[in-house]
Amino acid sequence: MFNVGRRLNLTELSSYDVLPDEILKNVKVIKMPRISKTFTGITLGKYIFLSKKLEYDGKSLLIAHELVHVRQWHELGVIGFLWKYLSEFFKGLVKEKNWMKAYNKISLEQEAQLIANLWQERKR
Ligand SMILES: [Zn+2]
Repeated sequence: MFNVGRRLNLTELSSYDVLPDEILKNVKVIKMPRISKTFTGITLGKYIFLSKKLEYDGKSLLIAHELVHVRQWHELGVIGFLWKYLSEFFKGLVKEKNWMKAYNKISLEQEAQLIANLWQERKR
């Protein structure tokens, strides 16, 4: 798909234990232009797009969060992930009439936030 980006280094591979190693080792991190103040990362399959430069030190909450999405993509597949994500988002949007609230109600986002927060607590 893209022959760009970087693989995680050894420090990161051992630190980000939020998904199985077989999936983690294939992840690629790609720098993208800043598109929004709110959203600094987006994950498509095994590709994590980040709009800000992060240290390669295995301590990023944002990368841990995006890696949970990598696992979700892996488990649900492209159609399964997008269907669940977008249908929950639009249901939330109809109900809340607020983009941010709708985003925060997506179960895949809630799971990523929870697991990344627990990961950060463990790493302290
Ligand atoms: Zn997310």
